[in-house]
Order: sequence, then structure tokens, then C-alpha cells
Amino acid sequence: MDGGEIMDCIFCSIADGSIPADKIYEDDNMVVFKDLNPQAPIHLLAIPKAHISSNNEVNSENSFVIGKIFEVIAKIAKEQGFYEDGYRIVNNCGVHGGQTVGHLHYHVLAGRNLQWPPG
Ligand code: 5GP
Ligand code: ZN
Repeated sequence: MDGGEIMDCIFCSIADGSIPADKIYEDDNMVVFKDLNPQAPIHLLAIPKAHISSNNEVNSENSFVIGKIFEVIAKIAKEQGFYEDGYRIVNNCGVHGGQTVGHLHYHVLAGRNLQWPPG
């Protein structure tokens, strides 16, 4: 374990490689991998490597990684060919937001015409 990582967090374990995931991008600060239970033909999760428990914990010290995550998502969308058709980036925060994993993550959904509003 190093700074910002907590025990028993599944996404910290994916970030450090101790739990396997289908990773499609990784750098020093973030990882993008395929969701285990996809809700669209393309369903990726983009996470900071540092343990940030939810959007509520984003602050001036750690927010640089959020810009990086959005930049990398745009790059992946171009590379994987869903840039032109479009996609949705979702963050579920807290109980009412439907968050089930307590490590900040952005869902990237693509490959079908998504409905609005969400439930
Ligand atoms: P949330 O409900 O917190 O917004 O989203 C959590 C997401 O993480 C869900 O879409 C769920 O399918 C995904 N997920 C949960 N555990 C794992 C795992 O161990 N591996 C992967 N790849 N995805 C996971
Ligand atoms: Zn974590």
C-alpha cells in the first residue's frame, strides 16, 4: 500500500493490480477498465489511482486528476470509434446517486442510443 490507498477497497485493488481487471488505459494517476456488469455495448470505468471516496471528496489538492480523466476519456472515445456517435459520462454520488463502490469512478457508456432521464 502507498499513499491514498485503503485496504478492502476493490477499486484501489484494481488500481494496484492485486485484483485483475480488463484495463484499457493506465498511467501514474488513473486507470480505465471495463465494467464487470456492462449496461451498454461499451461500459468503461475511469478512476483515480488515489482513493477518493466520492465526488464529495474532490478538492483543490486532488482535482487535477478529474481533468486528466475527462481528457483520457475523449482520447479513448476517438481511438475506440464512439467519438462521433456520442457517449455518456456518469458519476453516481452517495446513496441517492446510486453509488455502490466507495472509490470515485466515472462510468463511460456508449454503443447504443441511451435514454434520458435516468431512473
Ligand atoms: P456505482 O454503482 O458505484 O456507480 O458503480 C459501480 C460499478 O462498478 C458497477 O457498474 C459495477 O458493475 C462495477 N464493478 C463492481 N465491482 C467490480 C469489479 O470487481 N470489477 C469491475 N470491472 N467492475 C466492478
Ligand atoms: Zn479505493
